Amino acid sequence: MAFKSGFIALIGAPNVGKSTLLNTLLGQKISIVSPRPQTTRNRILGVKHLPSAQFVFLDTPGVLEPKGPLHKAIVHTALKTLSEVNLILLLIEPFSLEASLPSILLTRLDRVQTPVFLVINKIDLIEKRKLLPLIQEAKALHPFAEILPISAKVGDGLIELESLILNYLPEGPPYFPEDMVTDLPERFLAAEMIREKVFYHTSQEVPYGVAVTIESFKERTDKPLIEIRAVIHTERESQKAILIGKEGRMLKAIGSKARHDLEVLLGKRVYLELWVRVEKNWSRDPKFLKKFGIEEPI
Ligand code: GDP
Ligand code: MG
Repeated sequence: MAFKSGFIALIGAPNVGKSTLLNTLLGQKISIVSPRPQTTRNRILGVKHLPSAQFVFLDTPGVLEPKGPLHKAIVHTALKTLSEVNLILLLIEPFSLEASLPSILLTRLDRVQTPVFLVINKIDLIEKRKLLPLIQEAKALHPFAEILPISAKVGDGLIELESLILNYLPEGPPYFPEDMVTDLPERFLAAEMIREKVFYHTSQEVPYGVAVTIESFKERTDKPLIEIRAVIHTERESQKAILIGKEGRMLKAIGSKARHDLEVLLGKRVYLELWVRVEKNWSRDPKFLKKFGIEEPI
């Protein structure tokens, strides 16, 4: 059998489980997950290696109606991907089609030639008998190549998903070496792990006003230890105070959770130094968006 390979975009509304699905398919956490929308800001690439195929997944930020330059840039990143891939996995939640299928996405899908799978995620949360009416309703919206229910969290339907993906990929070479799971540098992943912990520990607008940069990333040569110095940028003094917390407790909690994940990711002991800095209105400043690795809209 000839080797197959191709690019597969994961798209859908915020919070439907795109990053969770990517991590489950890869068996490794490379895309950060949180119960809140708008966690993923950049395009995350993950490679799944099979004996006779290579799946290159692109996890995109959730699509929603854009507000402000940061949102515009995020949505732009998500939509641009669609015409560049071999297959699109459109994820939705099984509760209501309206709520999880943004019209901006359907409009865009009508204009691309790429086959689209409608992937109904989180089926562990509904009764099975509710699926059929949902599938019927979905069929009327777009000529989906396949419609399949899964649970990214529990692992339901993933074998079927993988074999269907294989059917739709063209013959092609492996694009990436066998040991490569992502093209993202370790520094970026480290920054993302820290940002994920900010999402878990803070509430309301604080996590959205945060960007993380890695100021230094040093592997010690004398022992298996990586020293990381990171800065959490916030937009306001008040947010900085929340992030540091009483007697520094919040920052300590974020730091120790992040350090644990980093040690799993990097396979070494990690010494993590965290700082909080106020960078007024960074999310509206194209210069900072670039610095934080968020693509600008054209
Ligand atoms: P994204 O914004 O589309 O990337 O969504 P995430 O992957 O960050 O997931 C959003 C939330 O949904 C997280 O709390 C996940 O744990 C949860 N989630 C994702 N997939 C499933 C699933 O199959 N079942 C259930 N019950 N929860 C899920
Ligand atoms: Mg995500």
